[in-house]
Amino acid sequence: MDPISPLERALHAARARVLADLVAGEVAEADVVSLVEESVVQRRWWVEQWPDGAAYVAGLVAQDVQDALLERYGRWPLCPVCGAGDPHALDVEPELGPDPHWVCHRAGVKVAAVGSLGRAAGGVPSS
Ligand SMILES: [Zn+2]
Repeated sequence: MDPISPLERALHAARARVLADLVAGEVAEADVVSLVEESVVQRRWWVEQWPDGAAYVAGLVAQDVQDALLERYGRWPLCPVCGAGDPHALDVEPELGPDPHWVCHRAGVKVAAVGSLGRAAGGVPSS
């Protein structure tokens, strides 16, 4: 038996959640997915040094990918809440904590949990 460690599970979950949000924003192209992989590799090292941080990994990977996309593509994810005004990106809160959410600081609202952006973006319900 080779059970999956809690650490690996946290990394898998973080990867899946950020990928789900990239798919929701229609930016999950091959080179973008590789940004997620790079972040997961770095955060694996980080969480191996500090296993108590496993619950923080999803928020950290989301922020890594957000930073990497800002350099290469532009702001992500764009705020789906504010209809008017300049397009602006959502922020991850807490920056270092469990249960990370995307928030819009302009409207002062929690938009969605990291990994659930598709449901918040007004997508057509599947049922
Ligand atoms: Zn907003």
